[in-house]
Amino acid sequence: MRVLVVEDEPDLLSALTQSLREEGYAVDSAVEGREGLFKAQGGEYDAIVLDLMLPRMDGWSVLHELRKTKAVPVLILTARDALPDRVRGLDGGADDYLTKPFQLAELLARLRALIRRTTGNANPVITMGDIEIDTTAHSVRQAGHPVLLTPREYSLVEFLALHKGKLVTRTAIYDHLFDEEDDSLSNLVDVHVSNVRKKLGKDFIATRRGEGYQVNA
Ligand code: CA
Repeated sequence: MRVLVVEDEPDLLSALTQSLREEGYAVDSAVEGREGLFKAQGGEYDAIVLDLMLPRMDGWSVLHELRKTKAVPVLILTARDALPDRVRGLDGGADDYLTKPFQLAELLARLRALIRRTTGNANPVITMGDIEIDTTAHSVRQAGHPVLLTPREYSLVEFLALHKGKLVTRTAIYDHLFDEEDDSLSNLVDVHVSNVRKKLGKDFIATRRGEGYQVNA
């Protein structure tokens, strides 16, 4: 899953980026509103964390422009006790909010919930045959036994599972699993797919030749 963080406080931005990466997200960042809008419009993000008080273009304006073209889930960060700010953000198309200061654990939980809901998965555990994917614990079990996956492999499995029954193109996988600082070659997607098949069975991920991959319920 790929997340964009738009935040002008350097300490908070680096803490957020680091925590999200530790959780297995691909993370891009922007330190002011115009850069944030540019990246948000051009990138394939699963969620955006958007501060409201930003240089060059405030968060409400970013949201307003973004909503003309993109339905990506947006979680806004607002100052404590700024109820009118939150209302304006939510009415402007934000999906959730957190007031500063906040606990990282809550931000991560809200992001997981936003991404699940956006993909139509209300249940945090996705079950496919004898495979269970716990999107909260980031763990996978097969026939009740834990399956050890690397963070990248887990991200791939989760991304396919959240879109189960649908064709997922290699481009989409590349766009959602790797951030802009990640210079891995796109053919690594195939390597990860191959490794996941070794661990979860070769039939778990179907190849749609020339189009992409698919997992089925
Ligand atoms: Ca700010």
